[in-house]
Amino acid sequence: MNIIVKCVVVGAIETNCFVAADSETLEGVVIDPGEEAGKILRVIDENKIKVKYIILTHGHYDHIGAVEEIKIKTGAKLLAHKEDNIFMEHPELNGSSLFGDGTDKVSADKYIAGDDIIRAGKMELKVIHTPGHTPGGICLLTGKHLFSGDTLFYGSIGRTDFPHANHEEMLKSLEKLMKLDDDVRVYPGHGEMTTIGFERRKNPFIER
Ligand SMILES: [Zn+2]
Ligand SMILES: [Zn+2]
Repeated sequence: MNIIVKCVVVGAIETNCFVAADSETLEGVVIDPGEEAGKILRVIDENKIKVKYIILTHGHYDHIGAVEEIKIKTGAKLLAHKEDNIFMEHPELNGSSLFGDGTDKVSADKYIAGDDIIRAGKMELKVIHTPGHTPGGICLLTGKHLFSGDTLFYGSIGRTDFPHANHEEMLKSLEKLMKLDDDVRVYPGHGEMTTIGFERRKNPFIER
């Protein structure tokens, strides 16, 4: 089985939404549908993906804006970490009121926590709890693919100067990610793809 990974860049601050699926059954997930549901649904249709879950790496407005529409069109359930409810359910806290249209809010159908395994077809996604950017931030690992949300970027890391962010927690979360193999491909919430090996050697925010 191979994992299909499609990136859809959405919204004003160019969030990377990912559609990931098992190549045999075509069952899959949508990660961080931040905006532009139509664009995401087109990729789902073109690749004939059966979406089982929508998963949020965290609850900021730029990662949740298209959740409702994707849910209605696919019937998928929304999974997120409980500690990010504070953002998901409150437009005034998730940035929507400040930077967006003030209406972005969603509620999880089921909560996920660190070390949970999410299954879609033969694909298994392991939840890694990575607080720091937000308290309920997660990364998702399947095989050699890591969806890193706003925790780890190409040559950078997520901001920790927002309310409820915590820089100490962020450093501990990055340590967790640095336990992964060099050849793990990293798909961040914004910007270019990278690898754990590259970030281990070049990222100025990683302690070594
Ligand atoms: Zn964020
Ligand atoms: Zn973001």
